[in-house]
Formats: sequence, structure tokens, C-alpha cells
Amino acid sequence: MPWSIIVHGGAGHVPKNLELAHRAGCERAVAAGAAVLAAGGVALEAACAAVQVLEADPHFNAGHGGALDEDGLPALDAAVMRGSDLAYGAVAAVVGVSSPVRLARAILEDGRHCLLAGPSALRFARRHGVALIDPERQITEKTKMEWESRQAEVARRGPPPATAEWAPLDREGESRGNTVGAAVRDGQGTVAAATSTGGLLGRYVGRVGDSPIAGAGTYARDDLGAASATGHGETMLRTVFAYQTLLSLKGVGAPEALLLEALSDAKARVGGTGGVIVALPDGRIAHARNTPTMACAWQIEGSALGSAF
Ligand code: ASP
Repeated sequence: MPWSIIVHGGAGHVPKNLELAHRAGCERAVAAGAAVLAAGGVALEAACAAVQVLEADPHFNAGHGGALDEDGLPALDAAVMRGSDLAYGAVAAVVGVSSPVRLARAILEDGRHCLLAGPSALRFARRHGVALIDPERQITEKTKMEWESRQAEVARRGPPPATAEWAPLDREGESRGNTVGAAVRDGQGTVAAATSTGGLLGRYVGRVGDSPIAGAGTYARDDLGAASATGHGETMLRTVFAYQTLLSLKGVGAPEALLLEALSDAKARVGGTGGVIVALPDGRIAHARNTPTMACAWQIEGSALGSAF
């Protein structure tokens, strides 16, 4: 069976002038993951390689360029999961880690726990040789400006209603959301998913979204496939979105239609919108969103790299 990989750059609003940059970033990420797979690497390694490319790219809301919380800090979430044995590693609200997905992977490899949160995760990072960084260096002009304009808006009008927290802003030059993720199936039939995010702009300190929670934003099981979700995290959490969606895809012929149905069901139940990518056990990949934009790119062994927006 050929390997397959798909990545997303988040379902948040991306203005027209940034479309190319977002697509190109996703294409570079797929190329990095595909290189791992072509060299015989496993799905987990490819998913991490792809997500690390996106974490390093300031256009995306992950790693360098992750959205700031209400204190103006880039507190980041990330997760990785392997479908063959349900191995899981995740970090939540971690400040000062260069690549949160790298840390999530170290937690998975350690195997003792699944999720480390806050400052304690830094101790684990130090012990396991995962690079730390001055969080100031992960703040970009863009994330600072977005934080400042949100603070000003909240001071003027109070916080927006909960589901509108994530709603894309339609101002030229401003982007929102843009969590990153990868779903991969390797040539041996093992699947893996990885997701990394700065979460919601201006979120309460300590807020954890769907991305690092198994079954909500990230899930992988060899007989079901791998999924990474993006969008309003509280909606994805309350609907256990990634897991439920993979379960409902089992044996389904047209995955895109079902992914759209899952997104509209989640919206009807909780109110938020988003997007999702999947890599299925039979080698197919699929993506869907009920937001205006979501950059994604993919490759199946033997075929050319593709991308969409
Ligand atoms: N799902 C992420 C969160 O709520 C945000 C996003 O996908 O952009 O933390």
C-alpha cells in the first residue's frame, strides 16, 4: 500500500494576500513529511517533521508565531499520536519551548504519561534534551499587533461571546486561527496524527483547547485512520470531534461529504466552526472545512503533491 500524508494550516481566516504564503508553507511541510516516508520512515516521524516545518513558519498559529493569551504570552499546545499502539504524547499551555510537537513526541517516546501541562513540561523538556527558547522570540510583529488590537477591543466593548472568540475577523491583513496539523499513513499501514497550536487569541491564562486532547483535536488508530482538527476548540472538545469523525468514516465511500456533515453537526450542537484532515487506513486522504479558508496540502506515494485553500 502506498504511503499518504496530508497537512493543514488551520481553518481560521486567512486574507487573500496571504493565501500563497499559507499554501506554500503547507506544501513545504508535506514535502518534509514525504521525504521521511520516501526514505522508509514511519508515520509518526513524518507527521512530526511536517508539523515542525509549520511551527517554524511565522504565518501559522503554532510555535514561532503562536497566538498570545490574555497576558500576552505564547502558551502553546501540541499532540502526537501513533495508531498502531495508541501511543500518545501532548503538551498544554507550555511557554518557552521551541517546538511543542517535538516535546509532545518526547513524552510519547517516554511512554509514562500522555499529557504534561504548564511549567512542569519545561522540566521534562530539559531532562529530555528538547530545546527551550525565550518566549519573546516566538512573538512576531503580527501576533503582537493582533493581541494589542484585541486588548483594545475588549477594553472598549468587553469580551466577545464565547463561540465568536474564534470567529474569523474579516479585516484585510489580519489572520486568525491557523493551527497546524498532519495526518499520515506509512507504507506499513501505521497511521499517525500531529497537531500544534497557539490556541485562541486572548484566551484565559491556562486555557487548553482541543489540539492536545486525544480524540478532540488529534487522534490515530490504525483501523480507523488519523485525524487532525482545527477551529473553535471548545466545539471540537465537546463533540470529541477527531475520534467521532474517524469512527463515522469507517467503511464510508465518500469521506469529504461525511467530514462536512461532522463539521455541521458539531456547529449545530455547540456553535463553533472549523476544519479537519484525515488519512484513512486504505491510503486515501480527505479534508473539509465549514470556514471560509483552510490551507492544506497532501501527497500520496506515486502522485504529485497537491494543495488547496
Ligand atoms: N483549535 C484551536 C484551539 O481552539 C484553534 C485553531 O484551530 O485555530 O485551540
